[in-house]
Amino acid sequence: MSMPRRAFLRLVPFVVAGIAATLFMAWCLPTLLALRGIGSSSQSLKIWESKSGARMEVRRGAWSDLYLAYPALETVSRVELWPTGALATADKSSRRLHRPPDAVISAPPIAESEAFARIETMLTGWPFRAFASEAWYSMKCAEDAAPVEFRYTTHLALLEGQELLVPMHPILGGILGDVFFWSSVAWASVAFPLALRKRKREKYGKCVGCGYAMDVHAVKRAMHCPACSVLLPRDPLAFARSPEMHFQNAYVWFIFISSLDIMLTWKILEMNGEEVNPVAAVIIDAWGMQGAVAFKFALVMWVIVMCELLARLRASAGKFLAYTAVSISALPVVWSLALLLLHAFFPSVFE
Ligand SMILES: [Zn+2]
Repeated sequence: MSMPRRAFLRLVPFVVAGIAATLFMAWCLPTLLALRGIGSSSQSLKIWESKSGARMEVRRGAWSDLYLAYPALETVSRVELWPTGALATADKSSRRLHRPPDAVISAPPIAESEAFARIETMLTGWPFRAFASEAWYSMKCAEDAAPVEFRYTTHLALLEGQELLVPMHPILGGILGDVFFWSSVAWASVAFPLALRKRKREKYGKCVGCGYAMDVHAVKRAMHCPACSVLLPRDPLAFARSPEMHFQNAYVWFIFISSLDIMLTWKILEMNGEEVNPVAAVIIDAWGMQGAVAFKFALVMWVIVMCELLARLRASAGKFLAYTAVSISALPVVWSLALLLLHAFFPSVFE
């Protein structure tokens, strides 16, 4: 399958979700709100007027707008009977002229201009108005004639004086805008958490495809994920990356015990004791205590490097060396501590 076609197919679910959300906001939400008595007819009322005295009542809410067009009571022109053209605010509080949206029916055809008492248009949809419903109330008061005619509208019920309408007159620009908006929202709500997860996986050395935790000890990184076999991005700093050390706990103990050994030896020599380790005795004689400290830590470093090298060949051998080094270096410390305690509590032994 070609790349553009695959990209297009990947967008389909988001567009479907966008269409679903658009229809929900245009059809379901206003109906649900009307059922709870908070439809557009509960919004604050504004009245716009034409020069001829024709009126338009406007209730604009967050989710739907309601426009009621009334003809003027008496006028010479049939055209000006209805509130067409620019309308002014009735109480003259603002000089701005209003013009209802294109989808609003502000007048019937001229031939029928005296046949209707009012025309209601409800616009629904969010963020853009996508559908309109029309209710045409006729002048006729005869019993047989229907007082109201719903056009492009599914009439559900009359509930406590409020018509439950599902608007069916599509407003093309609004629908396109809403579908684009909601598709983008659906896409973002999936793409954003995915991008976060990808960043997190990259940060913690996991496979970006399936989250498989890579072996942090591996000297050479695999080309493909061992779990999902996705091609892994190449690490440009791989040559500089040294893997985590194998037996960090052992090394901490090793360095701690070696330091303790030096401190205790120093203390014993200070108290005129003598070094029992012949190698150490020679070094202390030749280089002094500072030289001995340097030698000791060089040895510690060398043992740690050996453990790491060995562990790369055989992990168990490296582990054995590391813990053996800890145990062996602990022996003189225990011996020195025993001596010091003995000296502190039973000084007569050393006389
Ligand atoms: Zn994977």
